[in-house]
Amino acid sequence: MQDRKNGRAAALPVAKELRCFCTSAGVDVGASAYLCNMEQLLQQIEEYKKEIAAFEAADDKQVEEFRIRFLGTKGLVKAVMGEMKQVPADQKKAFGQILNDFKLFAESRYESLREQTAATQGPAGSRIDLSLPGDPAPLGSRHPITLMRNRIVSIFQRLGFAVAEGPEIEDDWHNFGALNLPPHHPARDMQDTFYIQQNPDWVLRTHTSSVQIREMEKGKLPIRMLMPGRVYRNETVSARSHCFFHQVEGLYIDENVSFADLKQTLYFFVKEMYGKDVKVRFRPSYFPFTEPSAEMDVSCFICGGEGCNICKKTGWVEILGCGMVHPNVLQNCNIDPNKYTGFAFGMGIERPALLKYDVNDLRLFSENDVRFLKQFTSAI
Ligand SMILES: [Zn+2]
Repeated sequence: MQDRKNGRAAALPVAKELRCFCTSAGVDVGASAYLCNMEQLLQQIEEYKKEIAAFEAADDKQVEEFRIRFLGTKGLVKAVMGEMKQVPADQKKAFGQILNDFKLFAESRYESLREQTAATQGPAGSRIDLSLPGDPAPLGSRHPITLMRNRIVSIFQRLGFAVAEGPEIEDDWHNFGALNLPPHHPARDMQDTFYIQQNPDWVLRTHTSSVQIREMEKGKLPIRMLMPGRVYRNETVSARSHCFFHQVEGLYIDENVSFADLKQTLYFFVKEMYGKDVKVRFRPSYFPFTEPSAEMDVSCFICGGEGCNICKKTGWVEILGCGMVHPNVLQNCNIDPNKYTGFAFGMGIERPALLKYDVNDLRLFSENDVRFLKQFTSAI
């Protein structure tokens, strides 16, 4: 019969398995003998069905053995179907149905065995050489500007700063007016700014401070937000400057916020960003939207303060501008400057990325040269 363990069909001749049939033996029989034979045949079919249901195939070869044993031209299904001619006419219909069901049962088992082995062996079955190396799936990488932006943002997020974003095409009020930039300010010059249209003026934002205005206008205080994003200036494109670049600005507004809070926040940032040994200095400066204002330098992390090309022999590298939010700016956003104070700061992303990744040309960041970008595949 069948060696179940191997799923292998024994090569028993069909006629021998059907030997119980008087008809097969060529014996002349009466109606009662038919009944007897049919009973035996039905019993035999049930046994075959059990065998079919229990048949397992591990590969294509065993599936083929199943097909030969049950569905082949000399298979059991055909042999059983051959018994039809011995069946009395009045029972042919009922018996035909049983035989047909048996045939469909064997065929459906054959199909499911084929699917099972195809699934375990892959679409082309054993024709695939599983020892071959797979097709490489090319890995993308984060852009160095994104890497630096994420790093800066993650440091401030630990101090409770949330991220806010805003439109890159801005109206005059959000980009200039609300920020206390007087009409004669050089930033408003046609030579410095990309105007989309004039009267009313629409510009490509020159800083992400416009997002600070939008956040303050919402009136939900206190505010502790970071504004990362792309900004535009009308500058000649070269290795050291570009007509667009990226910034991260920060804004903190609450009652009793002082310059000491600003300094402590930035000290924390510098230590996390450049290490514990880096020194910090503030230089008085001027911005229309902050008062007082300062530039912040850190001791050169390339030469350690001794002087090199990066720090232009000064030992210091300027990294950001900052200050206390000007009362006029608060008023422009309907915030009471007698009750609330706040600080703001802003830094470029390109400069620290240039230094960190030792890139010597700003244009590489925006040229989409895959040879450049794929060098950051392993960076996180
Ligand atoms: Zn240096």
